[in-house]
Amino acid sequence: TKYVYKFTEGDKDQKDLLGGKGANLAEMTRLGLPVPPGFTISTEACREYLAQGAEPGELRVQVTMALRNLEDETNRRLGDRHDPLLVSVRSGAKFSMPGMMETVLNVGLNDASVKGLAEASGDERFAWDSYRRLLQMFGRTVLDIPGEVFSDAIDKAKATRGVLSDVDLDVDDLRGLVREFKDAVLEHSGAEFPQHPREQLDMAIRAVFDSWNTDRARLYRRRERIPQDLGTAVNVCTMVFGNLGSTSGTGVAFTRDPATGRPGAYGDYLPNAQGEDVVAGIRNTLSLEDLAASDPASHAQLQKVMRRLENHYRDLCDIEFTVERGQLWMLQTRVGKRTAAAAFRIASHLVDEQLITMDEALSRVSGNQLAQLMFPQFDPKAERTRLTRGMAASPGAAVGKVVFTSAEATRRAAEGDTVILVRKETNPDDLEGMLAAEGILTARGGKTSHAAVVARGMGKTCVCGAEELEVDAVAKRVQVGSTVIAEGDLISIDGSTGEVFIGALEVVPSPVETYLEHGLERAVAEVDEQTAELVQAVDRLLGHADQRRRLQVRTNADTAEDALRARSLGAQGIGLCRTEHMFLGDRRALIERVILADDAAGRDEALAALLPLQRQDFEDLLTAMDGLPVTIRLLDPPLHEFLPDRTDLAVKVALAGAAGTDTEETRQDRQMLWAVERMHESNPMLGLRGVRLGLLVPGLFALQVRAIAEATVARRRAGGDPKVEIMVPLVGSVMELYLVRDESDGIIAEVAAAEDIPLQIPIGTMIELPRAALTAHRIADAADFFSFGTNDLTQTTWGFSRDDVEAAVFAAYLEKGVFTISPFEAIDADGVGRLVQIAAKEGRRTKPELKLGVCGEHGGDPESIHFFHATGLDYVSCSPFRVPVARLEAGRAAV
Ligand code: ADP
Ligand code: MG
Ligand code: MG
Repeated sequence: TKYVYKFTEGDKDQKDLLGGKGANLAEMTRLGLPVPPGFTISTEACREYLAQGAEPGELRVQVTMALRNLEDETNRRLGDRHDPLLVSVRSGAKFSMPGMMETVLNVGLNDASVKGLAEASGDERFAWDSYRRLLQMFGRTVLDIPGEVFSDAIDKAKATRGVLSDVDLDVDDLRGLVREFKDAVLEHSGAEFPQHPREQLDMAIRAVFDSWNTDRARLYRRRERIPQDLGTAVNVCTMVFGNLGSTSGTGVAFTRDPATGRPGAYGDYLPNAQGEDVVAGIRNTLSLEDLAASDPASHAQLQKVMRRLENHYRDLCDIEFTVERGQLWMLQTRVGKRTAAAAFRIASHLVDEQLITMDEALSRVSGNQLAQLMFPQFDPKAERTRLTRGMAASPGAAVGKVVFTSAEATRRAAEGDTVILVRKETNPDDLEGMLAAEGILTARGGKTSHAAVVARGMGKTCVCGAEELEVDAVAKRVQVGSTVIAEGDLISIDGSTGEVFIGALEVVPSPVETYLEHGLERAVAEVDEQTAELVQAVDRLLGHADQRRRLQVRTNADTAEDALRARSLGAQGIGLCRTEHMFLGDRRALIERVILADDAAGRDEALAALLPLQRQDFEDLLTAMDGLPVTIRLLDPPLHEFLPDRTDLAVKVALAGAAGTDTEETRQDRQMLWAVERMHESNPMLGLRGVRLGLLVPGLFALQVRAIAEATVARRRAGGDPKVEIMVPLVGSVMELYLVRDESDGIIAEVAAAEDIPLQIPIGTMIELPRAALTAHRIADAADFFSFGTNDLTQTTWGFSRDDVEAAVFAAYLEKGVFTISPFEAIDADGVGRLVQIAAKEGRRTKPELKLGVCGEHGGDPESIHFFHATGLDYVSCSPFRVPVARLEAGRAAV
């Protein structure tokens, strides 16, 4: 097997094999940019090393060949006592994992070659500085010696010298440090620092391999949903030196501003420095303009290279570079990370610059980025004092009074306070408090912690893992350094950035949200140029998505108000109108009578009273969605949800019994309790609900169907264009659907005849039971459409009761890697998704014109939308707020 590739052999598309860094170093080499020569050891070698616990035999030989090649090319030998070749050994996985893995610089220096380096460069200080850096990095990363051992020694040397900066240490100081570092290596590792250059190289390579599996790397990958089995490549690269005096230096740069997307390069530079010095913040950095002033030639060359890279990658690139005595070297590039706002602006700019097509621009932004731009935000103009920063676990901007217990959160919320629940970490006992709180802040745990998972599920703002917080729930206070926040103090948390602020910041709707709801003109009226440009970019890309997408986007809405809002956000109809809430409030007494009536007359009376109310509900909805399809689902939930609470009632009856009173009220209560007990179910989710209810409670579905038919007639009479569809829930057998259909078709025909208006109302079913999916070819005979209820389909396929498992099981399942994302968040393509595919295919085989949609929450999830597009569905339906996200992702799925 070939494990080792020279930089001249690879290209940017080989990230799987060479890692991101290696692939891009090869690409820059191919482009003729100044990259120091080197080679890359493949991820495959790493995988074999990790599996076997030793590197494959061939690897040593191939490294020898590549090294000899490099020595010939540079005309130097690794660690030679005269003018030595030195190399860096750098990790580089397919996906960047900032700060997670190891890099060792100046490999090849030893007691002899340090003198050779001094001689060849004519700079003794530089040579000893490089040697102490090798000892320091090698000690820390290869030998696992605590970093403070070295940094403390440097601090001590500076103090002795009376200087503040490491550049002020002279050659004798550095010689002294080298001596100390070597002693420290012996003391901590039990062996001398390896003087043999090849041994240094081999140990460093192994250390990079091993760094793939450190705890923090594994944790990071779990959080970022990066597979654990990819392995890292190792790049061995000829050293160039930014620490060769004031005409040398090292820096990082972006070809555009990654925060705002503004065109024009942006970067930091540090003269007389090496490697991590720039980001480590040991000295204040200079800007690129400063470099232009001090070294115009290097600066000009850097600009040229950046332009070249942008033209080549046709995207924002970030780079790492070094200047060695006026000569520019490129050490890394990649397509750079950026904020959501920058992503939209850059994509649009690049189209204007004619570097990319609109289709490409669409592929460069995501629904999640759009969602981020839609959340309310803290007033950008507001003054703010940052307390600390944690992980952005669930987006939004929340303001409230600090509370430390679930009980206090519930108590204060009941009094009308808005609170932020602050915990070290949360557990299932905190659920009630989390529900009551405006936002959740924790000191521990990552994006898959209990707090994060549950908060996202609830749509609550959450910042987690803010490690600086010292939470003391007993003393009711939280501390960051010397700042103390007590219970009841106001704080503001930003779930999109992870920031925590002291005091109450004002929350305003985001300009993108204003645009989506009220149009471009209003959104750009009062904002600065940069924001206006952002809104225009969103408009442009969303418009293109609408042109390209095949999937229609509908909304889940039960009220005219929600329907109108969704319509303004671009919904093309209602995919799911739930009717449950229509039986609450005042109407509860009526539905109670329907359920409890012991004679047909009593029940019919209650149903008759409900009819005009239901008709009005549907008329309102059809008015709001005039001209667009509206799918109404017949009543779904278990009946006992409409009856009083069993325990409350039992207590009341028992108390009355004990007191010996027996009034008319007690008699009624007793009867009600008896009914409630009769209806009690141990698994309501799998009990008397959906179509079962319709078939067992006479007149219930008939009432709803009649109300729908009459509302349609009324809308037609009023000159409207109602397009209603009736959906039957929880069907498992075609027979169930036939029974409902027969009755419904009869009622619709009756209304049509009575009103003398022809009615064509499609009747379809939800597919939310595995049996329905597996017998779809039969069910399609009786259905005009299918709508996949993927929430219930996920529950019934996995055998999960969502309310019970989400908090109790999922955090652990995510930690243990059973799944990388909750199956309620993104569709489980292998299991639940397969049922969708089967039902879609076999349903259409029976009835080619069968309309197919999705109405679970997955309808608004980006990953799931791509799956539904690929499965050939006609539409997705999601909550109003997700409609723009679904439009964008449906467009992206189609390009
Ligand atoms: P990371 O992945 O953490 O950015 P790198 O492998 O890019 O780690 O190395 C960190 C820094 O070390 C680079 O930014 C660069 O400044 C420096 N470096 C790496 N290789 C060399 C080299 N061959 N010559 C000079 N500096 C190097
Ligand atoms: Mg780097
Ligand atoms: Mg359902």
